[in-house]
Amino acid sequence: MRVSGYRSHGVAAAVALVNATTSTGGDDSADALRRLLRDNQFFWQEFDPRDAGDFRRWGRTLRPFFEMPGIEAAMALLNSLMLEIPMHPHLAEHEPHGLHMHYAPPSSGLPHRFRATTLMNLAELVVEHGLTRTGVCAADGCDRVYADTSRAGRRRFCSDACANRTNVAAFRARHRS
Ligand SMILES: [Zn+2]
Repeated sequence: MRVSGYRSHGVAAAVALVNATTSTGGDDSADALRRLLRDNQFFWQEFDPRDAGDFRRWGRTLRPFFEMPGIEAAMALLNSLMLEIPMHPHLAEHEPHGLHMHYAPPSSGLPHRFRATTLMNLAELVVEHGLTRTGVCAADGCDRVYADTSRAGRRRFCSDACANRTNVAAFRARHRS
């Protein structure tokens, strides 16, 4: 089973956007959004700063998915978004991905294409793994979200920094007692 292929790029992009737009200390400036899109391989069209508002709204729309307590609520959210967002699935072949699916109509601009890809990639992750691969960072005081597309799938933190900080705190707590 392949869990870290082309599909995961929309998942990683969704996580990056939610953290940029809704987490404490997140940077959702136009420059940060431009970087985020490039880092996550959305370089099919140049980012237009006039679209920044669309991306910020989409980040806030996706945040609740990562906070969902149960699969029914997550399904309801994804299903309503999939009805709302015009989809037009088709095959495409270009670098760096080879043959793969596109979800937005070919004529769409970058914000719409980003919405369609992130939404479908999150839905595919849920089909394979339920809600076991996504959540809010387990570290004290951190409100960043994460998604785990690794084979092992045991992630609970947004970053190594948060995992280490939590492990050190737990180690000290054990030593004191
Ligand atoms: Zn964290």
